[in-house]
Amino acid sequence: MSSPIEAFDQLALSPPLLATLVELGYEAPTPIQAATIPYLLDGHDVLGQAQTGTGKTAAFALPILEKLNLADRQPQALVLTPTRELAIQVAEAFQGYARHLPGFHVLPIYGGQSMSIQLRTLRRGAHVVVGTPGRVMDHLRRETLSLTALRTVVLDEADEMLRMGFIDDVDWILEQTPAEKQVALFSATMPEPIRRVAHRHLRDPKEVKIRTSTATVSTVRQRYWRVSGLHKLDVLTRILEVEDVDAVLIFVRTKTETTELAERLEARGHACAALHGDMTQALREKTIEQFKGGGLDIVVATDVAARGLDVLRISHVINYDIPYDTEAYVHRIGRTARAGRTGDAILFVAPREMRMLRAIEKATRQTLEPMQPPTRAAIADRRLTQFKQQISEILAGQQDLDFFYQVIGEIEQEQEISAHDIAAALTWLAQRDRPFQHDEKADLKELEAARPEREPRDSRDSRDSRDSRDSRPDGRRERRPRESGRGASDLDKVRYRIEVGREHGATPQNIVGAIANEAGIDSQNIGRIEIFEDYSTVDLPDGMPAEIFQHLRRVRVRQHPMNISRLDGQEPARKRAGSRAQPATGDNDNRPVERKPAQRRTPKPADDL
Ligand code: AMP
Repeated sequence: MSSPIEAFDQLALSPPLLATLVELGYEAPTPIQAATIPYLLDGHDVLGQAQTGTGKTAAFALPILEKLNLADRQPQALVLTPTRELAIQVAEAFQGYARHLPGFHVLPIYGGQSMSIQLRTLRRGAHVVVGTPGRVMDHLRRETLSLTALRTVVLDEADEMLRMGFIDDVDWILEQTPAEKQVALFSATMPEPIRRVAHRHLRDPKEVKIRTSTATVSTVRQRYWRVSGLHKLDVLTRILEVEDVDAVLIFVRTKTETTELAERLEARGHACAALHGDMTQALREKTIEQFKGGGLDIVVATDVAARGLDVLRISHVINYDIPYDTEAYVHRIGRTARAGRTGDAILFVAPREMRMLRAIEKATRQTLEPMQPPTRAAIADRRLTQFKQQISEILAGQQDLDFFYQVIGEIEQEQEISAHDIAAALTWLAQRDRPFQHDEKADLKELEAARPEREPRDSRDSRDSRDSRDSRPDGRRERRPRESGRGASDLDKVRYRIEVGREHGATPQNIVGAIANEAGIDSQNIGRIEIFEDYSTVDLPDGMPAEIFQHLRRVRVRQHPMNISRLDGQEPARKRAGSRAQPATGDNDNRPVERKPAQRRTPKPADDL
């Protein structure tokens, strides 16, 4: 490529899309977007090594939208994703980026959702289809999905599809697509089977990899908090209260977020301002000067705006949103510990972003320390210590307290109470907005909520990406029973029989993939799998609702219906039996739905204790 792309308007995107990006507050393309979008717009195939959080969805969605013929309501692009959650997320992203493209339709299709709804929507027409391999195959076989007008295929998170046993299905689907098409394959890792798919289906692909940067400053203490249980804003305010902070630089992703977060922190009593690329040069300089001089304690910035920022006072860099690549991370944390000082860097990382954390650790050759959000007890302690210290400082200082001694004397006399009682009342008054006592029960509840229920997805990845099957003396291969310790489900299990076995080419991965994805049972709740010649057995949580059971009977593994039945011959009850085996709504892959932080009206430094 000739010159590096630094702004969206350097990309050949049309005004409606550029307007959307401005409205979304995107300041600049992320590295994967800058590298991929021009290739896709030029019609090249792309082999992209990028994980969630790098902005890869927009990297393929924007060129697809750019090239779409809105007058033709046949699917022109197909995106295959490993999970239903990702399918929904990608479809929502398309809808968001297409907000100024009237009449645009995207259709997510995935297992577990009513077939009739999908059929109705398919009949109405969709420009883009986003789906999981199993359901897409179903529609292709039933001929309810036509791919004749298809121009682009995207394989999203290809390594996850491999891990879940879908890669042959992906291969089959690609066989059904027109020969003349563009293919973009994205994968966090590039194991051999993925390279083979790429080799078979991509034509002279442009390889795109996000750069990795090495070396960080060893004087920066690096920690991360795996976001769970609490709102990010609450944890941020607790950190600001408990840590020894001087000046704090907080990084977020968009311009809009810089102002929103700055306003929220200001409302909580912090001297805070936003710093983003849309501010005039004069205003930016003024903000930086105030930050340097102590007029501001916190600046909330985007990567672009904080480029080269040199403020010695910065004691903490907080990565409120994870950066798009390791290079950005290294740059961000380099804003602290300047001129021989020490500094702290804290990263908020959502469970689905754990891979980026590992990439950061690899690139920086340093391990980030996990941290827990400060507890209410810690905050209360800190406040009390500060209060006591303030009192001794005031008494030891130059303050003229004569008038106040007189006031206390008057109260003592008029109300006949001791100075001791007055001091207690005053202490109570002083801590009304910042309580010195905490609610222990609330702390315990929070600890409970923050405890990861399962292993983070990436650590499962590493376990599962190794061949998790044992070679048995009789030549049979079986999945190692899932351990009942950390990360494994401890629900009661029932053994089921499915009518696909070794002779059909079934593997533990594609059985887990089919059940997890198509019936919406969390893969962590799928127990031991044994594969025999013409059937297999699988342990699933007790209490499976009859609807799910009926659906599972029809789900296919390697093109063969599972025809699942209970080994003990019983049929699941018709009524929904509790929530145990309900479809995993949204957390099949550990992605938490982030709730919007509640806005406060009264300024408060941190949350109530
Ligand atoms: P993805 O890696 O596609 O899952 O995107 C991660 C997040 O980054 C999503 O919340 C996007 O809305 C956001 N995002 C994508 N591109 C940009 C950009 N250029 N600037 C700011 N945020 C972005």
